[in-house]
Amino acid sequence: MNIILLGPPGAGKGTQARRLVEDRNMIQLSTGDMLREARTSGTEMGRLVADVMDRGELVTDDIVIGLIEEKMSGDHRGGFIFDGFPRTLAQADALGRLLERHGSALDAVIEMQVDDTALVERITARSTCADCGEVYNDITKPQPADGKCAKCGGSNFKRRADDNAESLKQRLMEYYKKTSPLIGYYYAKGNLKTIDGLGEMDAVAKEIAAALG
Ligand code: ADP
Ligand code: ZN
Repeated sequence: MNIILLGPPGAGKGTQARRLVEDRNMIQLSTGDMLREARTSGTEMGRLVADVMDRGELVTDDIVIGLIEEKMSGDHRGGFIFDGFPRTLAQADALGRLLERHGSALDAVIEMQVDDTALVERITARSTCADCGEVYNDITKPQPADGKCAKCGGSNFKRRADDNAESLKQRLMEYYKKTSPLIGYYYAKGNLKTIDGLGEMDAVAKEIAAALG
């Protein structure tokens, strides 16, 4: 099964993708994670995209399509979860071609709806465990008082450079201008399933499971 998690920054795509990896043995392909990894490892591409990302703008289609293409040639297991990709119509067309080339197809596009006020609250309060990626929220799920990650026991927490009010505004704008047209695109293709992404993590996971059947 191949699915796309579609939604604005802060909708919870990454969190739900990690659950699907655990529950269904799927492979998460997050272009955001791939780009951040390229930055950390100091590749030329990482240097190229750093400023663009910190400003909250989109990286060029060529770069992200190249990243996805590379990863899709690897292990398939239970299929792919595309998280944060595609983000433009050109990327959506490219993904269609890549899947076709692999003799496979898209099974569902899960649109995660969350209102804008909640997104801003989620993102500006967000931190993650540097070791396992567990997501914390200053208000709803604070880092444990003993300073140790509840999931893996690690003690390094980080905040993303682009999780600030200014670049979030830009990310939201990019979403509405360039990514939200994909909702109509996939509706027309008959792939779209819309779910309410505002609830608790478990409730959202249940909705996704129901949508996937
Ligand atoms: P979020 O969904 O919270 O905005 P991501 O981790 O998905 O975060 O993406 C972080 C940044 O990485 C984006 O703001 C953008 O600069 C870049 N990026 C990630 N995926 C793509 C993509 N498919 N196309 C263009 N840029 C991307
Ligand atoms: Zn951890």
